[in-house]
Amino acid sequence: MTTLSTVLITGASSGIGATYAERFARRGHDLVLVARDQARLDTLASRLRREHGIAVDVLQADLTQTSDLIKVETRLRDDRKIGILINNAGAAQSGSFIDQTPDAVAQIVTLNTTALVRLASAIAPRLAEAGDGAIVNIGSVVGLAPELGMTVYGATKAFVLFLSQGLTLELAPKGVYIQAVLPAATRTEIWERSGIDINTLPEVMDVGELVDAALVGFDRREPVTIPPLHEVSRWDNLQAARQVLLTDIRQSRAAERYRSAS
Ligand code: NAP
Repeated sequence: MTTLSTVLITGASSGIGATYAERFARRGHDLVLVARDQARLDTLASRLRREHGIAVDVLQADLTQTSDLIKVETRLRDDRKIGILINNAGAAQSGSFIDQTPDAVAQIVTLNTTALVRLASAIAPRLAEAGDGAIVNIGSVVGLAPELGMTVYGATKAFVLFLSQGLTLELAPKGVYIQAVLPAATRTEIWERSGIDINTLPEVMDVGELVDAALVGFDRREPVTIPPLHEVSRWDNLQAARQVLLTDIRQSRAAERYRSAS
């Protein structure tokens, strides 16, 4: 019998992360749960151990604090049983850019991008060496749409998508699977935490439906999974249009329209 790899999940104390924990527990994986709220993690861990007979470790960490982040990186680097990283911890922010302080902006960028890429960087070499394993990065459709008016949050999620697509190109040939998951509005605490009334949103997905769909994409080894996107050809067309644009980037000369008459 092959041993299932351990799954490390960031932001596992609520919402999408807690639901991933539940789903991987059902599949029989041991877990390492990471978030700031030790009490919530302990409660979830006890329940999952009891209900699924798996081993669950709790690693309390504030991923915006370098010392805590290093603790998680060390675990990812050293614990050879961990074969799947769910890079899920994240936060959003309400208000326009000029209403947000530099500190608040830096905080969200640190959590949504710096922590995520550092954790990926900590585990990727070991997975590549093993020729196995997976990194799942939770992005957002907001990262595709500046029009949605969550500029800094969207920018961090655009980073997550780009990073994931780049890592797929680098690591898939080495046997490591990278998945970007792009939810749209999903019923979790993120809205209340960021000062947005979820009842003002026209449509919201249930978190169980979101994670189950993401796991269908995971099992199919999809590089990018967008559960709320109904017509997949729209994503394929966007990627094809990007490739066409790239064929017209000519490095040696500025485009005709930028050449001055003089
Ligand atoms: P959530 O219920 O608020 O969960 C966020 C998780 O991140 C919690 O477990 C929280 O735990 C953890 N977290 C927050 N700050 C942290 C920090 N500094 N250090 C460590 N952990 C921290 O929201 P969610 O919707 O499940 O969000 C999960 C991911 O989905 C995020 O990346 C989010 O951007 C993305 N997403 C959500 C939606 C949506 O509509 N819900 C849509 C698109 C993308 P502690 O408070 O215990 O630390």
